Amino acid sequence: MSAETLDDATLRAWDIAHLWHPFTPQGDWAESTPIIISHADGFDLIDTEGNRYLDGVGSLWCNVHGHRHPKLDAAIRDQLDRVAHSTLLGLTHRPAIELARRLVEITPKGLNRVFFSDDGSTAVEVALKLAYQYFQQKAQPEPKRTKFLAFTNAYHGDTLGDVSLGGIKGFHGLFSPLLFPVLRAPSPHCYRCPIQLTRPSCQIACLGEVARLLEEHPGEVAAVVIEPLVQGAAGMIVHPEGFLRGLRELTHQHGTLLIADEVAVGFGRTGKMFACEHEDVSPDILCLAKGLTGGYMPLAATLTTDQVHSAFIGSAADGKTFAHGHTFCGNPLGAAVALANLEIFASEKLIDQLPAKVEHLSRRLEEFHQLTHVGDVRQKGLIAGIELVADRATKTPYPSENLMGRQICNLARSLGVFIRPLGDVLVVMPAPAMPLDKIDRLIDVMLSCTYQVTEFK
Ligand SMILES: *Cc1c(COP(=O)(O)O)cnc(C)c1O
Repeated sequence: MSAETLDDATLRAWDIAHLWHPFTPQGDWAESTPIIISHADGFDLIDTEGNRYLDGVGSLWCNVHGHRHPKLDAAIRDQLDRVAHSTLLGLTHRPAIELARRLVEITPKGLNRVFFSDDGSTAVEVALKLAYQYFQQKAQPEPKRTKFLAFTNAYHGDTLGDVSLGGIKGFHGLFSPLLFPVLRAPSPHCYRCPIQLTRPSCQIACLGEVARLLEEHPGEVAAVVIEPLVQGAAGMIVHPEGFLRGLRELTHQHGTLLIADEVAVGFGRTGKMFACEHEDVSPDILCLAKGLTGGYMPLAATLTTDQVHSAFIGSAADGKTFAHGHTFCGNPLGAAVALANLEIFASEKLIDQLPAKVEHLSRRLEEFHQLTHVGDVRQKGLIAGIELVADRATKTPYPSENLMGRQICNLARSLGVFIRPLGDVLVVMPAPAMPLDKIDRLIDVMLSCTYQVTEFK
């Protein structure tokens, strides 16, 4: 029986019987009537009944140019006529070579080496292992540099190394006996400032906490790991300007590496190609995934400097090899579509169009302040988080069982807009290529659903 001949009721029954969805409460899902996506058209997802949903979260933060972009589709088809997969262990291929070169050209300066893997989680896992091994075997080894510093509310993926870095209690707390300890600095969360100061008079005093931790552990920290500018899964926490640059200076002073996890923020989402560009920062290690293929295929890249790479140069006998690799590292279909993604950025001058879009979004987001239960509206580029609160004056959250975010997203879905909240933070994450009229529709529906749910439920 081919899938085409199965009716929706059968598909739903099989889904609920067999499919385990990620980050999904299994009880609630079994009671739900899942939407079955059949195909897509530009910025719309279309279900098996023909209903259209404007994709407000870019297929979970990865889609860039819309769905079924002719050039992206063609890139995969062309590559498919050559080879779908060939390993990078002991062999090489044109799409991976060209993509490595292009990534070196467009990323912040100094990042000359590209290690491919499959997804954001592996990109960060690679970064951790590289940083650790670098200090063990560089010309003047610093074997005590075995620690990592990460931030509260951090999210860097779901493998255990990434979960060790993670600072979101609901995702990471349970696994604590399995994790390595990290030094934890407070995230620069201005709406709920961890040190009870206000901008701009605070002069980013929270950086002092990072400095203090580095001073307390001299020569012990291999790397500081950060989601530059926006902590996504935490609820789109937007960092104050200057924080990233300050962190770069601190890591230089303390001889520790800076790992920038641009898995979510890379590829145009912050209004520039890479978030680090806003503060003129070159990290020692840069992690890319989600938007790398335009959101089409699982592919990730961890870039680093010649300095880090130089510690790994040697023959088999020297024992300096990075003993890490995944079967599908640098998969040719993924690399081919990633190259096409970068070509479209150039040919459609997407980055040049972003300032006007960002400005427009910013004006539209102002409207949320009129709603009594919107506590904070934070935006960087085309990423925004709208935090709902029970009481605006005291910033008191709603009881979590009220599921305000979820209710709003469910209502939006019934109006043909697909969005997904992070708790009571509504997420705005359109594909960077989404045209203004569709961004307007997204905001119109979000405003009206937020109003209806927070005023009347
Ligand atoms: C999504 C995300 C990851 C993990 O990427 P996956 O491809 O889902 O494994 C890592 N870091 C950040 C900042 C992310 O947003």
